[in-house]
Amino acid sequence: MKRRSFIHKSSFFGMALTTMPHSIWPTQEEYTVEELMGKAEIKLHGEGINLRKEAHDAFLEMKKAAYSDGIDLKIVSSFRDFYRQESIWERKYNQYTESDNMDPLDAIDKIIEYSTIPGTSRHHWGTDIDIIDGYRKTTGDVLVPEKFEEEGPFVAFKKWMDENSRKYGFYLVYTNEPKRKGFKYEPWHYSYAPISIPMLAAYRSKNILQLIQKEEFSGKEHFTAGFIRSYIRNNILDINPELL
Ligand SMILES: [Zn+2]
Repeated sequence: MKRRSFIHKSSFFGMALTTMPHSIWPTQEEYTVEELMGKAEIKLHGEGINLRKEAHDAFLEMKKAAYSDGIDLKIVSSFRDFYRQESIWERKYNQYTESDNMDPLDAIDKIIEYSTIPGTSRHHWGTDIDIIDGYRKTTGDVLVPEKFEEEGPFVAFKKWMDENSRKYGFYLVYTNEPKRKGFKYEPWHYSYAPISIPMLAAYRSKNILQLIQKEEFSGKEHFTAGFIRSYIRNNILDINPELL
């Protein structure tokens, strides 16, 4: 009899738990569509860092460790909102189609080698950074893969990050895995996995196709459903598998 009443009680307890509002669970975060698309005002931390609190704190820990090994982790870009991404898109689209006279579809393909469709950037999340070694003097664009290879100025940075970044929760997103599709290899783009993994899961649970279709920006009239589906599959989801 005693055993039975215990079972009865525990199953009742289990039921009560599942019907409670899930805000009581500290590990379960919910992200709004606005937040996932860079349209919400989120609290960002650190001058010149601009990350969510936990990512900011982890970045500073990593920066301190890198310092003692002679590397100055310098953020080139971190949080970027929807409207900033939209202006990058517009500038490139106009340049390619007007100044360079490219066909709209070719222009779009060229933009999405390195830049995202507004509303789909991981930089909208406050978890992702583009970083280099601030100690190394260099000329021209810094975010080019060659600078992280062979005799490039950021080779020591790359080696340090390969060996240490995971300890602080930071993972490369667009790896040089030859079979990977979508965005090209970006040895500078790191993501704070403890937050970006659940954010990507939340993003995937939304109807991304519909969200993109709702927006208005140049070239959007050339987006077919098939194009957007392959963009989601390749550019959003074909990333370092450790971040899925
Ligand atoms: Zn980036």
